Amino acid sequence: MSTPLPPSTRSAAAAGLTTAAENNTFALQVCSACQTVQYPPRDVCSNCLHDDLPWQAVPQQATVMASSTLRHSNEPYFQEQLPWRIATVKLDCGPVAIAHLKDDLQTGDRTELALELDAAGVGVLVAYAPNNF
Ligand SMILES: [Zn+2]
Repeated sequence: MSTPLPPSTRSAAAAGLTTAAENNTFALQVCSACQTVQYPPRDVCSNCLHDDLPWQAVPQQATVMASSTLRHSNEPYFQEQLPWRIATVKLDCGPVAIAHLKDDLQTGDRTELALELDAAGVGVLVAYAPNNF
């Protein structure tokens, strides 16, 4: 039996996360009308409903709002990887996102985010302590 992979189904808009990870850049959609940074990826702006959302490099600094350790998962891949640390992070450029935690970050800590390819080859957000980035 092959090693399970993380879930890889994403929206068409989210393919940009994988492209950014493949290019080793930190890029999110930015509305061309109101400059609102979008996350998660979407087809229209969360602020003004404009539909031109080009991918642009954005600041990757954020603050940890909450963190948790997953000790159970219904996904076979994560069952083999537990415990798995995750956090809700508030990006300085606006959005709130859920990220994988690579360092021992706690609520209120500053972090730097990266877009990396997971085991299934999909772009995901990963949070690091700033000095470990
Ligand atoms: Zn907008």
